[in-house]
Amino acid sequence: MSKVLIIGAGGVGAVVVHKCASLPETFSEITLASRTKSKCDAIAAQLSRPIKTAAVDADNVAELVALIEAEKPALVINVALPYQDLTIMDACLATGVNYLDTANYEPLDTAKFEYSWQWAYQDRFKEAGLMALLGSGFDPGATNVFTAYIAKHYFDEIHELDIIDVNGGDHGYPFATNFNPEINIREVTAECRHFENGDFVTTPAMSRKASFTCPEGVGTYNIYRMYHEELESLVVNFPTLKRAQFWMSFGDSYLKHLEVLGNVGMTGIEPVEFQGQEIVPIQFLKALLPDPSTLGPRTKGKTCIGCVVKGIKDGKEKIVYCYNIKDHQDCYQEVQSQAISYTTGVPAMIGAKLMLEGTWQGQGVFNIEQMDPDPFMEGLNAYGLPWTVIELDSFELSD
Ligand code: NDP
Repeated sequence: MSKVLIIGAGGVGAVVVHKCASLPETFSEITLASRTKSKCDAIAAQLSRPIKTAAVDADNVAELVALIEAEKPALVINVALPYQDLTIMDACLATGVNYLDTANYEPLDTAKFEYSWQWAYQDRFKEAGLMALLGSGFDPGATNVFTAYIAKHYFDEIHELDIIDVNGGDHGYPFATNFNPEINIREVTAECRHFENGDFVTTPAMSRKASFTCPEGVGTYNIYRMYHEELESLVVNFPTLKRAQFWMSFGDSYLKHLEVLGNVGMTGIEPVEFQGQEIVPIQFLKALLPDPSTLGPRTKGKTCIGCVVKGIKDGKEKIVYCYNIKDHQDCYQEVQSQAISYTTGVPAMIGAKLMLEGTWQGQGVFNIEQMDPDPFMEGLNAYGLPWTVIELDSFELSD
C-alpha cells in the first residue's frame, strides 16, 4: 500500500496512470501532476477509481519540493520530458523520496544523450539512502532487462547485442511522431553511435540501413542504425560485449518529411527571431504536428521490439532473440493509447511496483539492467507485454 506521484500527463503518463490505478493493492493512492492540470483531469476522468491531480512546473525545484512535501509519496515516477530529470531528482533528494524515469537527462539547448549527468547523482542518492531507477520504459527499459535476462539464463558470456525496434503501426498521417515530437526528432537526427571493440564509433545519422523480418508475421521493415541511450549503460554493465547496436524502423514517408524539414531548418533547436519574437523551430514544428496522445484511435498494426544476443555457453557459440509484439489497437481498447505510449508506460508501472514492494532495492542511482531481471520479466507477462525467447541458427543484418 503506497502512494505514488506521477509527473507528466502526456501519452506515457496516461498509460502509467491507467496501469497503476488498476493495481490498488500496490498503488493505494495516486497523484498525477503536470504543467497543464486540465490534461491530468482528462486522464483522471477515464479511470474507474479517483486519483488526485495537480499543476506543477517540473523545471522549478521549489515547486516540486512543495508538491512532494504536500503529497508525501513513497516514489516519484517521472514521465515528463528528459529536460526535467535533474530538477525532479533534486526535489527527490530534498524530500527523501525514491525516483524512477524512462529517459535520460538531456539539456534543452544541446541534443546530447548521455547518462553522465544522472550518474553524477550516485553519491548523493547513496548517502541519502534513496534509490533512483533510470530507464524503466521499453527502450530503454524492457530492452535492458531482456539483455540482462538473456545473459543470466542463456549465456556464460555475451559478445554482440542488436536491439531492434520495429513499429509496424500506421496512423494514416503523412508525418507524425509516436512520442513527443521534439524528443523524437532530436533523437533521430542525432549522429549515430554504436559500440565496437571497446569504443563508441560515430557515423552520420541514418547512414546504415538493413532489412529485418519480424517473427510471427509482423512483416519485413527497413531498419536504420542509430544511437540510443541504453547502449551507454549496457556496455558498462555487460563489459564482455564487443559490439552493441540499436536499430529502429522508419517508413519512407517519415524519412522524406524529416529530410525536407531538416533541410529548411524546421528541426533546429537554436532560437530564431521571427516578427520580433524568439522561437525555436523544433518547438514550433511540435505545435503543428499531431499530438502523439491523440494517435491511439487511428493507429493500426503492431510493434515488435527485442534484443538479439550472440555469445558463448559451455564453450559453444549461440544466438538468442527475446522480443515482444504488441498490437496498437489492443492497447487502445485497454487504456485509450497507442502501443508506443503503452510499451513505455507498462514497464514504468512494473519498475515502480517492484521498488514499492521492496523486490528491487538499492541505495544510489541504478540503470534497470543492474536489477534482477526475473521479476520484471514476470511483470511484463502479467501486465500486458508478453515476451518470447527463441534461439536462432544464424543472424546477419544486410541491406
Ligand atoms: P508528451 O509530450 O506526450 O508528454 C510530456 C508531458 O510532460 C506533458 O504532459 C507535458 O505537459 C509534461 N511536461 C513537460 N514539461 C513540463 C514541465 N516543465 N513541468 C511539468 N510537466 C511538464 O511525452 P510522452 O508522454 O510521449 O513522453 C514522456 C517521457 O517518456 C519522455 O521523457 C520520453 O522521452 C519518454 N519515453 C520513453 C520511451 C522509452 O521506451 N524509454 C519511449 C517513449 C517516450 P504539457 O502537456 O503541459 O506540455
